[in-house]
Amino acid sequence: MLTIGDYQLHSLKVQEFLFEGGPLPGRTHDPARPLPKIRLATRLLLITGNGRRILVDTGVGELCWTSRWAANATSPYMLDEELDKLGLQPGDITDLVLTHLHSDHVGGAFTCGGDHLVPVFPYAQVIVQEENFRTACRPDEKERISYNETLIDEFRQLSLFHTVSGTREIFPGIDVIISNGHTRGQQLVRVSDGHTTLLHGADLIPTTAHYPISRVTGNDIDPRTVIEEKAAILEEACRNGWMLFFGHDPFRHAATVLERPAGFVPGPAPEF
Ligand SMILES: [Zn+2]
Repeated sequence: MLTIGDYQLHSLKVQEFLFEGGPLPGRTHDPARPLPKIRLATRLLLITGNGRRILVDTGVGELCWTSRWAANATSPYMLDEELDKLGLQPGDITDLVLTHLHSDHVGGAFTCGGDHLVPVFPYAQVIVQEENFRTACRPDEKERISYNETLIDEFRQLSLFHTVSGTREIFPGIDVIISNGHTRGQQLVRVSDGHTTLLHGADLIPTTAHYPISRVTGNDIDPRTVIEEKAAILEEACRNGWMLFFGHDPFRHAATVLERPAGFVPGPAPEF
C-alpha cells in the first residue's frame, strides 16, 4: 500500500496475457508464420480514502469479449481474489474511472446474467471522457477492433454513467490529464498531495518498455502525438519525482523516471 495525502493506493494484478508484438494486432496473418507474442499483464489501480473506493479500469473481465482475448489470456481474471485480499468486494467500489473504453480496460465492468449483461460494480459511478465516449460510439476502421459495441451500449444505459471533459480535478487530490495519441480522449489519472505524485500511464506509457520515446504501440491512432505526449509526461515526471503506474507491465507496477544520456529509464518506486 502507498499513501498519498488522504488516499491509500493499491496495485491489483488481475490477469496475464499474451499479445501480438506486430504492428497490426488482430489482423489476419499466415498461421504457418505466427506473429511473435509479448507477455503483458492487467493491473488495476485502487484508490481508497475520503469515503471513496475508486477503481481505475477493470481489465478485460471474465467474459473475454472476443476470441482474440480468450485465446491470449494465460491466467484467470482475478479481480474478486485481489479485492478479497483487502476485505473488499465489487459492490464496495464507489467510483469507476475508465482511462478509455478499449475492451481490455473496461470489459470487466459487466458479467453475464443469463441472456443479458449485469454490472459488476452496481453502486459505482462511472467516469469517462466525453470525447472518448463519442469515439467509442463511432469508431473508425483503425479502432473498430478495440471498441466493443455491446459493451458501449451497456455503459450508455447505466444511470451512474458520467462523462467529463478535459483536464480537471475529479476528486480532491485526484485529477485527469488528457492524451489523444493512443485514442481520442484517453484520461491519465494523477494522485498527488503536492509532495508525492503517482500518475497512471494508461496506454500512453503502459509498461516500462515504453519509456523510449519513439516506442509506440500498434494500437496507437497517432504515433507522432504519442511521442510528443510521452516526452512531455516523462520530462515532467523526471523533473518532479513522480511515480508512474503501469496498467500492462507484467514485471513492475510502478517506477520513477530517470534521465540518462540515451534517454529516460525506469527508477526505483516503493512496493504497494
Ligand atoms: Zn488502449
